[in-house]
Amino acid sequence: MPAKPRLGQNFLDDAQAVQRIAASLGDLSGRTVVEIGPGAGAITGALAACAAHVLAVELDPGLAAHLRAQFPSGRVTVIQQDVLHFDFSAASAAAGQPLLVFGNLPYGITSQILLKLAASHAAPNGPVLDRAVLMVQREVADRIAAQPGSRDYGLLSVTVQMYGPAEKLFTLPPSSFSPPPDVHSTVFRWRFAPRFAELGLDEVSFLPFVRKAFAQKRKTLANNLRAAGIPPAAVAAALARAAIDPHARAEALPIEALAALWHSLQTERVT
Ligand code: SAM
Repeated sequence: MPAKPRLGQNFLDDAQAVQRIAASLGDLSGRTVVEIGPGAGAITGALAACAAHVLAVELDPGLAAHLRAQFPSGRVTVIQQDVLHFDFSAASAAAGQPLLVFGNLPYGITSQILLKLAASHAAPNGPVLDRAVLMVQREVADRIAAQPGSRDYGLLSVTVQMYGPAEKLFTLPPSSFSPPPDVHSTVFRWRFAPRFAELGLDEVSFLPFVRKAFAQKRKTLANNLRAAGIPPAAVAAALARAAIDPHARAEALPIEALAALWHSLQTERVT
């Protein structure tokens, strides 16, 4: 089947990498794994060999039909669907456990998939997602796992890390794929352990605040917050109360300092 670039179809063609990826998810015995974009099944078989059940969510109808023929046993369920519409909460409830997730992601919708996983991590009755191992463009993985003060640290790092630690595992060259993409690919692990409760934050208003703080990389944090409509006096008072340098950039601040500033702005009643 010819690959469809618009669906990010670069298929893994590296037997060693398949084994490393499957091992990266940890112990799969008795577990249900959701595979995002299984494609032609390069990794699906390795996951199904160890897990109790693999839910393979593939958008391309031709590939979904191919997968059903390739994995006729009940261990792999092929779901022909856009993963952005997949109900992780219902799948977790049906499995009776938090899910593991693997995906060699279609790079065009990486951010949307990360936000979907973040939004799906828990339901009112408990955790929905346990951990994910995801393959993304190398530069995106660098941003996801970046630490404060580094060149790559920004909105994506804070957004992902608010839902749990992200750890880069290994990088594959374009030659590991067919057809080869233009970029290197990095596999990272994301353990879902949201930090909102621990830091006393409201998820619904903290993330928009972080977007404002990082709005323009060249501006100071104070300028970004003023540009977002927060009165200058309130910005100055909140920075002072949170013991943050008034000339600091958001890129220098760890999550704990951003949390302290959000609390400080709540006192000013302006976020
Ligand atoms: N897992 C396979 C591999 O490693 O060889 C294929 C990975 S390929 C980078 C991405 C896969 O995601 C393709 O099979 C593509 O058809 C599928 N895909 C693209 N957009 C999708 C979406 N919105 N929902 C589910 N699958 C999607």
